[in-house]
Amino acid sequence: MANERFQSPRGTYDILPKDAPYWRFTRQVLREEAESSGFQRIEVPMFEEKRLFERATGDTTDVVTKEMFGVVRASKMAETDKEDSSQEFVLRPEFTPGIIRSYLEQGMQALPQPVKLYTDGPVFRYSRPQKGRYRQFQQMDYEIIGDGSAASDVAVILLTWNLFKRLGLADSVIVDINSLGDAKCRPKMRKALLDYLSQNLNKLASFDVARVQKNPFRVLDSQEPKTIAVVKAGPQLVDLLCDDCKREFKQVLELLDELGIPYNLDPYLVRGLDYYTRTTFEIRRKDDETRQNSLGGGGRYDGLVELLGGRPTPAVGAAPGMDRIIEYMQEKEIKIPETKLTDVFVVAIGEHALKVTIPLVEALKAKEILTGVSMARDGLKEQLALATRLGARLVIIVGEREVRDQSAIVKDLDQGSQETIPLGDLKASVVKKLS
Ligand code: AMP
Repeated sequence: MANERFQSPRGTYDILPKDAPYWRFTRQVLREEAESSGFQRIEVPMFEEKRLFERATGDTTDVVTKEMFGVVRASKMAETDKEDSSQEFVLRPEFTPGIIRSYLEQGMQALPQPVKLYTDGPVFRYSRPQKGRYRQFQQMDYEIIGDGSAASDVAVILLTWNLFKRLGLADSVIVDINSLGDAKCRPKMRKALLDYLSQNLNKLASFDVARVQKNPFRVLDSQEPKTIAVVKAGPQLVDLLCDDCKREFKQVLELLDELGIPYNLDPYLVRGLDYYTRTTFEIRRKDDETRQNSLGGGGRYDGLVELLGGRPTPAVGAAPGMDRIIEYMQEKEIKIPETKLTDVFVVAIGEHALKVTIPLVEALKAKEILTGVSMARDGLKEQLALATRLGARLVIIVGEREVRDQSAIVKDLDQGSQETIPLGDLKASVVKKLS
């Protein structure tokens, strides 16, 4: 139908040219900070087997039970298609399980440990859309696999901190941190919590009563005022840690003190994914006590590699959410550095001019001079405005007359000067002016 209109799917949005520089800058900061700290880039598929997330993320979590998008073939399978049609696929709701799957599948356990990987890209969760909560959003993600020391917990928190610092948000955010204990102390913690909550069932919000038996840790995360009051009067996880976990957590906090990273010990922080052990953290806006709009989170997940079929291997990672970070940067009116796109902008007027300028542009690019060229039919004024917007220092103009005279006009936008230079001398002259 001619007047049919289309919209982006609910919970998604378009990143338009006005916002694109923020995304570019944020990704660039991630790349620089991660690679200078020894992380290597990995990219994993946007969809994976459903059972990977059921196993890894946890089949009692909201993410897995309520929020995964299935991936099915839109057309019917051909009779001759031999593919296993019993496999179910979902869009990735997070990165960690796919990265650990790859670590195991690609033999990274045989590499010198730890293996440090980073990535970024879209993830998908079928949640109820609202401001700061989307169905397609983008995460940065980094993991240190194969090192169980407090130093690697701190390395992940430090990278997170450095990202926020470079993005201009260091003064506006704080790290909430807690320890969830390991396989040794977790059963004791679970029992203490279960006993306490069971004795206080009638004081909990009804929504939380059902969670007590299923996973009492999740109750600590409740946003219900009635439950919060009960939780605050109950046992604190840090008091129930075994000696090893206590010592390790103390080391983490001491190292954070030494690095001057501000943190808030939050004994009720549990996070929404099942695989976390020991150090767990979340980064939030200082003005958001509830963590409703947390900017990033992470922690240790020492059992996950084994759970997915590998040798027991400690690991720690984090995933800041780019959409919320960028919204926060814009709200705080943080200016991002302008990226220089062009040193030299070449304007060719007419077909003959184009033939002359194309080899010139290639020659300048070969000298690693950022060179833009315009073949549009806009007037000279518009071309010069574009050159200025792209940050060009020199503009080279070749029109019919210049082709005839075998010359070019060179405008120096910084100095406001202009001269005519023979084509033969042009490359050397540009190089000289820029050096
Ligand atoms: P999680 O993987 O749940 O630990 O989330 C890590 C980060 O991803 C959060 O701190 C948010 O910044 C971001 N995030 C999680 N869910 C959403 C969502 N639905 N929309 C936008 N950002 C999200």
